Amino acid sequence: MAQATPLIKDLAKISEKLRAGFGRDLLRPGDDGYDAARKIHNGMIDRFPALIVRCGDASDVIQAVNVAREHGLLLSVLGGGHGVTGFAVCDQGLMIDLSRMKAIHVDPTLGTARAEGGVTWGELDRETLAVGMATTGGIERTTGIAGLTLAGGYGFLMRKHGLTCDNLISADIVTADGRLLRASAEENADLFWGVRGGGGNFGIVTSFEYRIHEVGPVYGGLVIYPMDQARERIRRYDEFVATAPDNLGPLLILGTLPDGTRAVIFLLCYFGPAEEGKRCMEPLLSGGTPIANQLAPMPYESVQSIVERFNPRGLRNYWKTSFMDRVVDDAASVMVEKFQISPSPYTHVVLYTLGGAMARVDPDVTAIENRRARHALLTVGMWDGASADETNIGWVRGFASSMEDFSSGGFYVNFDSDTPVDRVRLAYGAAKYSKLRLLKDKYDPTNFFRLNHNIRPTNEPG
Ligand SMILES: Cc1cc2nc3c(=O)[nH]c(=O)nc-3n(C[C@H](O)[C@H](O)[C@H](O)COP(=O)(O)OP(=O)(O)OC[C@H]3O[C@@H](n4cnc5c(N)ncnc54)[C@H](O)[C@@H]3O)c2cc1C
Repeated sequence: MAQATPLIKDLAKISEKLRAGFGRDLLRPGDDGYDAARKIHNGMIDRFPALIVRCGDASDVIQAVNVAREHGLLLSVLGGGHGVTGFAVCDQGLMIDLSRMKAIHVDPTLGTARAEGGVTWGELDRETLAVGMATTGGIERTTGIAGLTLAGGYGFLMRKHGLTCDNLISADIVTADGRLLRASAEENADLFWGVRGGGGNFGIVTSFEYRIHEVGPVYGGLVIYPMDQARERIRRYDEFVATAPDNLGPLLILGTLPDGTRAVIFLLCYFGPAEEGKRCMEPLLSGGTPIANQLAPMPYESVQSIVERFNPRGLRNYWKTSFMDRVVDDAASVMVEKFQISPSPYTHVVLYTLGGAMARVDPDVTAIENRRARHALLTVGMWDGASADETNIGWVRGFASSMEDFSSGGFYVNFDSDTPVDRVRLAYGAAKYSKLRLLKDKYDPTNFFRLNHNIRPTNEPG
């Protein structure tokens, strides 16, 4: 149900101006499609933009940015709508919805793919895999390429080919003053550094150009163990991934099975022939008795869809994350003990294992920090019903704080619900954060793009 139209000075005039360019792609409270357009993956987000513009191309984005700036409107940007903070949707401002910007062009000879800002990973993979290629992308098909790329980009391929942002060749970006700039190693190189990790702080990316790679056979799937083997499985996993080949993309999940049983789960994706994959995984899988072993040769797109069953759209989400270099026995014990009392069957804890090619990239080349950690520990609090918010958020916070003692510092902004400025500084480290602020001074001195893990210009306290 739509709320009453919020009070914005000159709203009628602004609507008229936008209506001339956007026609029925301008949505206001009460319009058909307004409620669907403001809903995103995280069911906790229930915000009411005064205006939503569904952009079809870069010129639409420029027009919307100019109108928002001229009238001092709060602005939010929706790519794929997976951001857990819900910054894609604003209250009483202008929401720029890119979800119709779906153009994709793949050039297998050059090994590149260009995709517009509203494309999701499933859509991009579909086109690149048609020529047997892919770039590092998120491990769920419905995640947007935009938010994921701009803050780094973890996925099964990152140990083999680097983070998503390491595969970015160029980005076309509409800045606060309404210019369309290209950011690449050759053009606006400072901006190119910033958009590889700095999120949506510098403008709206209308199009991303990626390096793509051949993806041959894949051997992967889930191996599920009962919780009484959890400590030993975690210990073995942590030891194994320290020397695992770059061809393996591994995750460990503490989750709840459909019958309500808690379990420790390996989600594995090996890029190579099945026999090679099996040999690689032997040390990890030996010595335990799984409830189920679903490993099999499968298309890459099938591995990309496995986690969708863990993350249904529309449930309420609150996430916390940190990095870990080692999962020492005490850390494994705390993880297991605390997970056993998580209040929702949807909630899960993930060791998203890093390393390989992404860790070998010179840390100064992009704004991304903490490339050398072994794991990102991700706590996905997920539940149904607002009455359970306090209990579930409380549990996630308690779990995250118990794991702080074992953290190697920092966190990955794409996995975190909390955004106070001191926490954002922690994500980038002091030196990079200062450099990002100077970049913000240059490209967005008024902090027009502020609904994000915000990097403040130097004229604001930060
Ligand atoms: C189920 C699920 C699975 C996930 N899996 C992974 C994973 O495997 N790896 C990983 O790294 N992350 C993963 N994530 C986290 C994901 O990277 C972030 O949620 C990311 O923000 C999603 O991008 P989006 O475009 O879908 O989100 P949106 O909510 O649309 O955007 C998030 C923010 O990005 C900015 N933004 C969006 N589009 C643009 C644009 N075109 N130009 C400028 N700024 C823009 C805005 O600030 C916006 O608020 C997952 C999230 C979910 C919910």
